[in-house]
Amino acid sequence: MIPFLDLKRETDRYASEIKEAVSRVVSSGWYIQGQEKERFENDFSSYCGVAHCIGVGNGLDAICLILKAYIEMGVMEEGDEVILPANTFIATALAVSQCGLVPVLADCDIQTFNIDPISVIERITSKTKAIIAVHLFGRVAPMQELSEIANKYNLKLIEDAAQAHGAIYQGKKTGNLADAAAFSFYPTKNLGALGDAGAVTTNSADISDLIRCFSNYGSDSKYFHRYKGLNSRLDEIQAAILSVRLKYLDADNRNRRQIVDRYSVEIDNKDILLPTKGSDGEHVFHLYVIRSTQRDRLQSYLIENEIQTQIHYPLPIHKQQAYAEFEKQNLRMTELLNNEILSLPLYSSLSTKEIDKIIYALNNWQE
Ligand SMILES: *Cc1c(COP(=O)(O)O)cnc(C)c1O
Repeated sequence: MIPFLDLKRETDRYASEIKEAVSRVVSSGWYIQGQEKERFENDFSSYCGVAHCIGVGNGLDAICLILKAYIEMGVMEEGDEVILPANTFIATALAVSQCGLVPVLADCDIQTFNIDPISVIERITSKTKAIIAVHLFGRVAPMQELSEIANKYNLKLIEDAAQAHGAIYQGKKTGNLADAAAFSFYPTKNLGALGDAGAVTTNSADISDLIRCFSNYGSDSKYFHRYKGLNSRLDEIQAAILSVRLKYLDADNRNRRQIVDRYSVEIDNKDILLPTKGSDGEHVFHLYVIRSTQRDRLQSYLIENEIQTQIHYPLPIHKQQAYAEFEKQNLRMTELLNNEILSLPLYSSLSTKEIDKIIYALNNWQE
């Protein structure tokens, strides 16, 4: 069976460097808020071309902390609305809810899978304070249109860059395309730790200072607390591992794109729709998502051919029990896509033979 993702194989590629990094932390005697975190924050902010990076506990917290900073700054208050795509991982909405704000779901563009700017405009009210743009599956959201909307309606623009480390849009990297950006380093992401980890990047010193303080019990010096903060910190072991993996991020993204180049050229089946790359930058293909009107049958066929696939995501946010209040919302494109999408294996350690087999199976499928 070709696994959808083989994290052991992926990690094994740098196992000795990772073990060395972990062992350095183990013998340092310093495990939280130390120089490994500081080093990774500096490396990652330079990589993104952004002024500040704050390592936090995970991607959900990263989004939450940005919103909490805006609440603290008086930019928004409980009950205000934040527009985000219906077509995303539920964390984007949960972060908004957790901060006492109201998530408002916008529909997506059927070609790019990303948030549709027209749908965003339709949902703006006097309570709207921010837009969260998710760079879904590694493709940057339409940031130019979104920033024009944000400027016009005086809204904050936030990136959920959890799926797009290293992606480029109009010459700039993700993390540097809005007022602030949230990253997740969950193990399966393009830049993954070996546990939970996340970061916020921003060019605003005010947001950076606030989040640094907020994520560490609201403390700006030990045992003195300026805010009712929380505990969400990037630990030293994960930071040391991430510094190793960051060195290989561009090469890994290139590997992904090379496999994508083969998929796009060689998969040739009139009943299968392939994703596009876009022309405004560099897509990093966190996921390679194809479409078929017979998706469930295609997935079973691939399993019979020893190819594991996944569905991202099997149930949109407004159909989840957790958001039963949104059940009746009209999100046509999101729902249409939801029944057709299928994610193929796509990772650096996929062998040529495995790629051949995936292409062969898809080309020999009949509806
Ligand atoms: C993974 C992911 C998150 C959440 O990250 P965690 O580190 O698991 O909290 C948020 N948004 C998107 C789009 C994601 O893919």
